[in-house]
Amino acid sequence: MATGEPPFLRVALKVDCDTYRGTRDGIPRLLEILSARGIRATFFFTLGPDRSGRAVLRVFTRPGFLLKMIRSRAPSLYPLSTMLSGTLLPAPRIGERCAEPIRSVTRANHEAGVHGWDHVRWQDRLDRMSAEEVRTEAGRAHAEFLRLFGHAARMSAAPGWTVSARSLEVQEERALLLTSDTRGGAPFFPAAGGRVFRTLEIPTTLPTLDELLAWPSLRTDEGRRSYYRDAVSGTEVHTIHTEVEGGPHARLFEKILDDWRARGVTFPLLSEIAREIQAGPEPIPERPITKTRLPGRGGTVATGWPEARRRIGRDG
Ligand SMILES: [Zn+2]
Repeated sequence: MATGEPPFLRVALKVDCDTYRGTRDGIPRLLEILSARGIRATFFFTLGPDRSGRAVLRVFTRPGFLLKMIRSRAPSLYPLSTMLSGTLLPAPRIGERCAEPIRSVTRANHEAGVHGWDHVRWQDRLDRMSAEEVRTEAGRAHAEFLRLFGHAARMSAAPGWTVSARSLEVQEERALLLTSDTRGGAPFFPAAGGRVFRTLEIPTTLPTLDELLAWPSLRTDEGRRSYYRDAVSGTEVHTIHTEVEGGPHARLFEKILDDWRARGVTFPLLSEIAREIQAGPEPIPERPITKTRLPGRGGTVATGWPEARRRIGRDG
């Protein structure tokens, strides 16, 4: 985010919980790592059926996906039971099965939002969903959030950074404090389908660790650490995953956090950034939503700042 305040190095941690296993096992681990350092974060929960096994089928339908799986050693990130979930094994409903770890997040003083109902379905089918289907899908996730927490969600993050004019329209009906649906650039009001939406969008500005793991030029954890250490230049938003930083790469994540703390980085919540921007003197830009590709990630992601791709993906 180019806010022009270089003395303040800040990283808002956005935690995406995508799968049943990640939510069940990754959350306790991340809470430990964060609380040991007094860091707060913004968690987004996928609450419906975990059909991540379907993602295995993408090997056959998406160019680059198999390569990504191999490079990122996906089988070690995603255990066999996750890869089969929703295909050969029944799809567990994450909100029902993981109520305890999910609620433990706000008890530990972090904040929470919605990361969709069926992550795989959203990512694969959003462009073909009718407005009614989108409304149903989002409505289920928000209803489950309400059941779990006793209040409506004030923020949401689109699964796989996948949005459409329809999904933005449905989202707008909820009068959220913020969304974090896109990659790269400064906070903005998204424009799509001939209208401008008034829900503040706060993009993820740094590449994710699962992307970095697939960059051919960064072969060691030392290289990845130094990349992240130097990447913070103002206020950043960093997306982590319960399946990755809360799983096999927890140790590396701890080192990345400690490197940042050594540089004086602080860790605001996304809601704090949203309130600051809404109260600030700067006009909030309106930007059309487009799709882009990022190094190390299969498929496309939404962005309001395609020019920021150079920064996120300098490592092609
Ligand atoms: Zn996700």
